[in-house]
Amino acid sequence: MSGPKTHSWIDDLEIYIAGKAKVDDVKNIHKLSANESALGPSPMAMEAYRNAASELHRYPDPAYYDLRKALAQKHTINAENIVCGVGSDEILKLACRAYLSPGDHALYVAHSFSMYPIAIKAMGAKAIEVEDKDYKADVDNILEALTDKTRIIFIANPNNPTGTYLPRSEIERLWKNIPSNILLVLDAAYAEFVCADDYDAGIDLVEKSENILMTRTFSKLYGLAALRLGWGYTNAKIAETLNKLRDPFNVPSSAQIAGIAALNDTEFETKAIAFNKKWRDWLSAEISSLGLHVIPSATNFILFRFDDNVKSAAAANDYLMKHGYILRYYKGQGLEKFLRLTVGTEEENREIINLLRKFLEK
Ligand SMILES: *Cc1c(COP(=O)(O)O)cnc(C)c1O
Repeated sequence: MSGPKTHSWIDDLEIYIAGKAKVDDVKNIHKLSANESALGPSPMAMEAYRNAASELHRYPDPAYYDLRKALAQKHTINAENIVCGVGSDEILKLACRAYLSPGDHALYVAHSFSMYPIAIKAMGAKAIEVEDKDYKADVDNILEALTDKTRIIFIANPNNPTGTYLPRSEIERLWKNIPSNILLVLDAAYAEFVCADDYDAGIDLVEKSENILMTRTFSKLYGLAALRLGWGYTNAKIAETLNKLRDPFNVPSSAQIAGIAALNDTEFETKAIAFNKKWRDWLSAEISSLGLHVIPSATNFILFRFDDNVKSAAAANDYLMKHGYILRYYKGQGLEKFLRLTVGTEEENREIINLLRKFLEK
């Protein structure tokens, strides 16, 4: 006997690698590896969170009525068709549980969010990676990869870790060309940061489709990553399915209350969007002027490439870490020549450019 036996696909599953938070022997750490909020959490959300402590003995509202109402008002959408989760990660996983059986196919784009293959393979389904083009999802490549076994297509729009986005017209073209038994997941974790006029997170499409799920998060712009709060917007039938599968009390009261406060804190929201745009543009220009190749970003992070074999991404990563700056370095995923930098505070942004300059001149 050797103990309980799992499915073979669970034995083979990789564990998600999160952005590093610590470096041995370095005290002052600046964590710019996980696309967290440069301005911290919304002050109104922090206050609401503190006030939630007196109700810790109560189970949360399993239908999170007030949170759904606040989301519905903010986005002018139907509260009935919102599903909340422990981060948007939970919504992505619920979609896989609901629609994938062993042997099914689910598609995701190369150089995108590494949770997708993990969530797909956890169901025993086959994770099919589709080639991208210039670090962007490519609709024609996705359409070519469809088979009669395809059940889900995951698109991060904007995409992590590349920062690129697809315009609304391309998403619509994709949707119009897939059969309605395939679920199209539009992961819009960074939607709030996008300034482009031709971008759309997918709300209209959700409302006219049978097969679209848009996911959103409070972890990025709203700065509530620690509370693990995300949501999905879809049609009544898919919402009902996901609600059957989730835990009844999946979202704690503290997260519900803080989430509502964050939605109401429009001052913080406006400030955070403007701050991000200013420093994303500044960092992109500075990094380019250092001779590194910047992938244009619509998000709160920037992916950039080192083409030199000595002054490489790996060497830069080590150098920055020694100075207390943690960026995201991808050993896998075909991004060995890249680092991903989250927009930080003004001081951090200026210092990272100083450090990069020193590294390159060394
Ligand atoms: C950060 C991120 C998420 C999810 O974040 P949660 O904290 O689970 O809500 C989802 N998709 C992408 C592409 C992300 O970068």
